[in-house]
Amino acid sequence: MKPGTGRVYLVGAGPGAPDLITVRAAQLLARANIVFHDALVHPDTVALAVNAETVAVGKRCGKHSTAQRFINKRLIDAAARFDTVVRLKGGDPMLFGRAQEEIDALRCAGVEVEVVPGVTAALAASAELGVALTRRGTSRSVTFVTPRVGDGEQAGDWTQCVINADCAALYMAAGQAREIAVRLIASGMRTDTPVVVVEDASLPTMTRTVLPLGRLGRAGTLALRGPAMILLGEVFRDVVAAVWPDSSMTSHEPLPEALSA
Ligand code: SAH
Repeated sequence: MKPGTGRVYLVGAGPGAPDLITVRAAQLLARANIVFHDALVHPDTVALAVNAETVAVGKRCGKHSTAQRFINKRLIDAAARFDTVVRLKGGDPMLFGRAQEEIDALRCAGVEVEVVPGVTAALAASAELGVALTRRGTSRSVTFVTPRVGDGEQAGDWTQCVINADCAALYMAAGQAREIAVRLIASGMRTDTPVVVVEDASLPTMTRTVLPLGRLGRAGTLALRGPAMILLGEVFRDVVAAVWPDSSMTSHEPLPEALSA
């Protein structure tokens, strides 16, 4: 294939709020010729691309690999036609954003690629809650993890990764929050582990659900409309204890029904 003439920028759009974007990203959007953006990116952020053709390439559940190959091809084609091609992704492009597939495909086609980081959802959620994910004496490790398994991917044991971290941020997990809680408890996590589910972090529509892990394991499906993540760890103990000051925070809580059955 003929090498592209343009350069492709993988740009982090941040977690949602249009003003939570880097100056570098905003400048690139302002001079972009074409922008391929995820469905979740705020319209006001896309609107920063005043001179560009804008193309939504949001992938919904299912058909991911086909969609990804198609996006790779469109980026390569665009680089042959334009100087500045922006691939705008929610949060930080390098976390759970399929960035490596795009970087590899572009490099393989001889197209120059540059990455512009963004504020990832976990850090926006931490800011919203006013709770630091690391804390002296309580939390010296944070894990970014997803239980979601992609096409042809080995499942792996994400539960140990959560259990071994002082604080965990679970992406693409809130839709199965109950099942996840049950799995974690079955793998040995304490039922009094503090949990906060944050939806729409950084946006005016932000919601938070705070509860101990044992209760999450017995909860029904959480009523969520926007993107949401599950945060777990001792750093959230005060936040959770403020809502559940009673015995529910003890580690002797009975196991969820699904486990005792
Ligand atoms: N690259 C993105 C993550 C993409 S995966 C980043 O760095 O943030 C998509 C998942 O991110 C969602 O399923 C959800 O778990 C999380 N997410 C994205 N935006 C969010 C937001 N505003 N609030 C809470 N979680 C969010």
